[in-house]
Amino acid sequence: MWVCKDCFADEEIRQEILNNFEQEGVCGICGKNAKLIESSYFIDFFRAVLSLFQPDNTSQMTMIDIIDRDWKLFANTKCARSIIGEVLDTTNYGFGLDDHVSYTNDILDNVSVWEQLKKDVKENYRYLFDHEKFDVCADLSPSYSLNAGAVLYRARVTPEGQKKLRCKEMGCPPKEKAVAGRANPFGIPYLYLCKKEKTTYYEIRAGFLDKLSIGKFKIKKDLNIVDFNSKISLFYSFEEGGSLPDIVAKNKIFDAISSDLSKPLCRYDTELEYIPTQLICEYCKLNKADGICFSSSLHKGGVNFVLFDPDDATCTSVICREIKTIDIDIEK
Ligand SMILES: [Zn+2]
Repeated sequence: MWVCKDCFADEEIRQEILNNFEQEGVCGICGKNAKLIESSYFIDFFRAVLSLFQPDNTSQMTMIDIIDRDWKLFANTKCARSIIGEVLDTTNYGFGLDDHVSYTNDILDNVSVWEQLKKDVKENYRYLFDHEKFDVCADLSPSYSLNAGAVLYRARVTPEGQKKLRCKEMGCPPKEKAVAGRANPFGIPYLYLCKKEKTTYYEIRAGFLDKLSIGKFKIKKDLNIVDFNSKISLFYSFEEGGSLPDIVAKNKIFDAISSDLSKPLCRYDTELEYIPTQLICEYCKLNKADGICFSSSLHKGGVNFVLFDPDDATCTSVICREIKTIDIDIEK
């Protein structure tokens, strides 16, 4: 079957088709006139992808659901069904397009190191835990550079009677007032910042008609960041000789850590809840990271940063904002 780049969402696959197309004509899936490649060009890759799954009656998802949720390889379900269907026809994998599947037990076992570590540091060992297996499954080395001059944002509610806070009031609290957070332990302040100004409104959970002071923070030097938000291209990793099961496990662990880091603080939380993510930050520091970044759970598409040394960024100006509308929705 001849296919075009627009049947795929993965940038690396799209580029591969543009670089290696064999003819121009009508795509066998979407019907567009485009540059085409034989779908068999990708057969080894998709065989490796199919090997990531096992039949699982307790799962609610098909393989295509999981690929769409985690990897966004295809432009739409029709493209996914055509390509995956063709590979399924060549070998008996023990499941079909509409069967419910999960990742293989080996992958799930590796992903579970995060849940195990959380349990261990809450219930068994606090400071010196067994991290050998965790290290193998999740590499917490910095993968991203936040360059000097980059601008990030931080908000505080402006106290009654004041127009706005001053630059020096926008940083994190001093050591003696630093309460524990998801990333920082009690007594060790970190600087929590957002990539976009708008994300700060959500992160401080601003209410209707709240007046906010928004601090613009400039990064002083190039910083090494552990990016829990990064999405690796499965195809690129395969081409580079990476092990897909290992990449899937690492990605799932990073997603889970990112989600735990971005859970809003709740007044009923005990400080025990924050220990695992605080530990992860300490671990990143040992790996020479200056900070971390992860997705905001409160603002879709928002990215949060935590800098371990609050002096790595300086507040250069403060602007006032007032919350005029609040958009409330229910989860569907
Ligand atoms: Zn197409």
